[in-house]
Amino acid sequence: MITKKELDEKIEDIQECGQCLDIQIKKFSPITDYEDFNSLDDDFKRCSCGKRPIDVVMAHILKIMIEEGTVPEKATLRRNSPVPLSKFYYSSLNPQFLAKKSLILLHPDFTGEVASRLVDEVSEVACVLKGSPQDTVGIFDKNSDSNHFEILEGDDTQINVMRTLLGDKIVLVKKQSKHHIEVAMTTEQKLVQLHNYLNNNSINAETAVDAMCGLGAIGIYLSKYGFEKVIFNDINPEMIDALKVNLEINDISDGYEIYNESFEDLKIDGVDLCVIDAFPGADISKIKEKADEMAHNVIVI
Ligand SMILES: [Zn+2]
Repeated sequence: MITKKELDEKIEDIQECGQCLDIQIKKFSPITDYEDFNSLDDDFKRCSCGKRPIDVVMAHILKIMIEEGTVPEKATLRRNSPVPLSKFYYSSLNPQFLAKKSLILLHPDFTGEVASRLVDEVSEVACVLKGSPQDTVGIFDKNSDSNHFEILEGDDTQINVMRTLLGDKIVLVKKQSKHHIEVAMTTEQKLVQLHNYLNNNSINAETAVDAMCGLGAIGIYLSKYGFEKVIFNDINPEMIDALKVNLEINDISDGYEIYNESFEDLKIDGVDLCVIDAFPGADISKIKEKADEMAHNVIVI
């Protein structure tokens, strides 16, 4: 659980100090051509505030991956970097300088050895996951099993803080190994889309369904928007656990119901609004049909 004070401190902590020196490294050239390649260690270009430019951190990571044979000798930042995910993400700030223990790395070819070196030798790395960003993580549909990224090292807890048009921030905590990758910016855009839809259509704000709620961003938003009752549903029990944490963090203590079912099996009707936010690439024709039966208004975002 995270308090308002801790949140403010974390937002403060990800901002550059004013002395932080921006260093950019060529993204398309082999990293071994970088003039300071041999100097890349944990002290290299570290500011007195403790942060380093993201390019330096990624080059340091890539150097270790080359040494361990995870990527070819001619690796470039653009082609071969692991996916860098922030432990703490605040959407209005896109940090160019990274604090210690601020990164979760994801790459399909990570091994235990390289993971342990990355955590030991690169101060910014907090957690190493094995997997591909293209993988669907979670439960894709009612016929599929739950899929995870493998945690090789560290703690995969991630906190996203999103601004909303209601003036209120929404905080979402998740275990990155159990969730498909969606950056907070994308979620924020979905909330803007939903906000505009609600403002442009006169929808009775009594009951709404967040059909595939995941961490709960949409339902939490609907609750803050003023819906009297929000029904959260997700087929994945791990999402329901995460949802309960997020409801508490966002101060939502009543006006909701939670279901852990396949959306097609939900026995609910007469609701004012149903919001569908499915996995990218999922066939939602059946889901849309079901939503139209259940709700006076349906939006797919
Ligand atoms: Zn600094």
